[in-house]
Amino acid sequence: MAEVPVPRAPDTPVATQFKVRVLLIDDQLIIVEAIRRMLADQGDIEFHYVTDPAAAIATAHLLQPTVILQDLVMPGVDGLTLIRSYRDDPKLNPVPVIVLSAKEDPQLKANSFAVGANDYVVKLPDRLELLARIRYHSTAFIARLQRDEAFAFLRASQKNLADANIELQKLAALDSLTGIANRRRFDEVMRAEWQRGQRDKKPLSLLMCDIDCFKVYNDSFGHLAGDLCLKKAAAVLTEHLKRPADVVARYGGEEFAIVLPDTDPAGALLIASACCGHLARLAIDNPRAPHGIITMSIGVATVVPSKAGSAETLIASADKALYQAKNDGRNQVMVAANPPEDIS
Ligand code: GH3
Ligand code: MG
Ligand code: MG
Repeated sequence: MAEVPVPRAPDTPVATQFKVRVLLIDDQLIIVEAIRRMLADQGDIEFHYVTDPAAAIATAHLLQPTVILQDLVMPGVDGLTLIRSYRDDPKLNPVPVIVLSAKEDPQLKANSFAVGANDYVVKLPDRLELLARIRYHSTAFIARLQRDEAFAFLRASQKNLADANIELQKLAALDSLTGIANRRRFDEVMRAEWQRGQRDKKPLSLLMCDIDCFKVYNDSFGHLAGDLCLKKAAAVLTEHLKRPADVVARYGGEEFAIVLPDTDPAGALLIASACCGHLARLAIDNPRAPHGIITMSIGVATVVPSKAGSAETLIASADKALYQAKNDGRNQVMVAANPPEDIS
């Protein structure tokens, strides 16, 4: 029969409790009583016992002792077998085991250590010695648990930090008003695509898009309405991107840029015209503008990136075409007349 005095399952891990918790497994109540007395006045030591060896493992799971005092000779199961079971059990494996043996026998001692015991004392041990051994093994065990907890916490913190950094990087690349890539991201993309185009010898197209007469729209309807209009324009441009590598960015103010890797002038013109037409079809009122609605002018330039050229010359070329589109009456697409590099 097993006497398991109030098996209080700890709700916090042992390591955070700093309490020595002893579990004695011995079939003789007289030994249980003797050990209990030895530990009775120790405020920092919790004492539990089991007299039925068959209940040892379940009780150890429940109590999470910091040290097990293990009798060797018991009815049914012998102590060495039990120690082997602790060592095979992932939860109990690290718990120190002090063998409480009936005799001083070198062979039995050797066998005990061989199956995984951490210490060996002969019954009944001296009280001071037993306390010292219990404290020694428990402290080492608690320290190991604390170290493991600290490592786990550190790993979790590092993971959180890495996740937060990824999130931060994403946010740092986005324009807060429209949610599309910002100027900083645009610069990165241009740099990367310029290098990629150079390696692959593929044309790189750039569309510079500027909302027409936006100042008078703001003047007519206010800045908040202007912001909403910018969001709609960004959504229109985003809708016309077909490939994963295509990027639309807010270049600044009411100006947007679209980067189209591996795209020739004809393909770029197609997308630019589609964007221009789409925004006009929304027919957003802009009564003081010549067209009476919100429109957009787009300059298109294409180049096969080379060592001699630079992304800046492509931007300048698209800007120049945009300027021409504005001069020619707005709400239209202009393809750069003199591409910075021959793309044929
Ligand atoms: P154009 O057809 O020549 O491009 O004329 P425009 O009025 O669009 O160009 P201009 O450069 O004279 O004015 C741009 C306006 O865009 C002025 C500025 O207040 C407005 N703007 C720039 N950024 C924002 C913004 O984030 N929100 C709002 N509501 N307006 C903005
Ligand atoms: Mg404008
Ligand atoms: Mg402008």
